[in-house]
Amino acid sequence: MNDSMRRAAAIVLVILGGAGLWWAGSGAPASASANDAMVATMAAARERAAANDARLKGASRFEEGGWIYVHLEGDPGAMGYQHGYLLAPEIEDGFAAVSAGMMHATERDWEFFRKAAHEMLWPKIDAEYQQELQGIVEGLRARTGSKLDVDDLVAFNAFEELPDYYVPWLNKRQKAANAPNLKSPGNCSAFVATGSWTKDGQIVMAHNNWTNYRNGERWRIVFDIAPKNGYRMLMDGFPGVIASDDDFGINSDGLMVTETTITQFEGWDPNGKAEFVRARKALQYAGSIDEYTKIMLDGNNGGYANDWLLGDRKTGEIGQLELGLKAYKLWRTKDGVLAGSNWARDPKVLKVDAPEFDPSNKESSPNARRARWDELLKENKGKFDVALAEKMLGDHADSAEKKEDANERTLCGHVDGSSRGVKEWEWQPYYPGGAVQGKATDSTMTKEMRIMARMGHPCGGDFLAKPFLAAHPEYAWQEPYLRDMKAGPWTEFRSGQTPKE
Ligand SMILES: [Zn+2]
Repeated sequence: MNDSMRRAAAIVLVILGGAGLWWAGSGAPASASANDAMVATMAAARERAAANDARLKGASRFEEGGWIYVHLEGDPGAMGYQHGYLLAPEIEDGFAAVSAGMMHATERDWEFFRKAAHEMLWPKIDAEYQQELQGIVEGLRARTGSKLDVDDLVAFNAFEELPDYYVPWLNKRQKAANAPNLKSPGNCSAFVATGSWTKDGQIVMAHNNWTNYRNGERWRIVFDIAPKNGYRMLMDGFPGVIASDDDFGINSDGLMVTETTITQFEGWDPNGKAEFVRARKALQYAGSIDEYTKIMLDGNNGGYANDWLLGDRKTGEIGQLELGLKAYKLWRTKDGVLAGSNWARDPKVLKVDAPEFDPSNKESSPNARRARWDELLKENKGKFDVALAEKMLGDHADSAEKKEDANERTLCGHVDGSSRGVKEWEWQPYYPGGAVQGKATDSTMTKEMRIMARMGHPCGGDFLAKPFLAAHPEYAWQEPYLRDMKAGPWTEFRSGQTPKE
């Protein structure tokens, strides 16, 4: 088959799959009433009409290695429509899991988040991303008749910043009595290396995403985005969200981007621009470390504050942008390695933006992983390539206990196996969270727009929901959303890829 035929076939498969889902959800055939049948006929007609929408031209979807690959192209509204349409079942499912988590943690209802999205975030979102978000809603509605609107989508896109940055800031301002103890998240282990540190002297970049398993098992999209304006992008992501958000992405101008979150970060600027918008914009429009920094600083709202690890394959230079709200710092080098495991290191950023963080506690997850990165990176100086990076992402050495034991202190995190939890993030003992997937690339692969990705724990271990919930009834509220997270194989994805025969 040629490419366009493959794409057309992929879309037909998606439509058939969607209709199957709808029928499965409509109850046993024996009990189906005439009304159900009519509704089903209308839904099928709606899907047929939606599938003929000109905005879907060029878009495609297929699944491989536990990932869903989607190709989006064109103007912002069309790309949004494609996104909403092709990932409609996953967006509905992801929205349910994420919104339940946001409400549970903050003890705020969904209307609160919709209001924050509408009044605070929406007016500062660039027009092209407003159009893309609106397009997602339209594609989603065309496919499933979804009731979600653009305020829902914006609040959902901000799931890494509204609950853990905006709400604690608001609680403090309002002196809210009995407010839940919310902590900014600590997501990820990552490094970027160049020069004498890597096998070929060029850049190697790798990242594993740490989050709760409830969200993490849904963080399984590979987005291949060919926008009308800006650079082509290949990134991992979450269904319905316009930024990678965990983050790992490359663009066609040779920029390589990942991050780890700053633990115990405090602060929010309600007049700033949402982080998910700045992060998406920076991957789409930045061709250098300087341009990336400029876009992230423009309207910095303090949300989802990260240490951004960057590479520019054109120059071989790497950088680390430690993006606080009151302070920030940029390090850069053409010969070195920069690692992250959720700690800030600039004294000023620590003091003004993460004052509670204790850099000297060797037992905490961020610091224990920092020590392990130091050790592992020095041991392997000059040997880094993508294959070694993949192995490192699955490392289980606990530097505090000096033994192999998959837990909250290991680069491949398994907090569900730890009686300590991670108190810095308010993760209680045996919290169902840790490393949920991994990605790696290098300069050569980036030039060809390729990445490696593994769904599930990067070590290959499986998480099984049923025995976990039986052993830990304190997490029973997650039961409707928590599923098995089985590891897939390391899989290569590239821009313009079509499904295997
Ligand atoms: Zn592991």
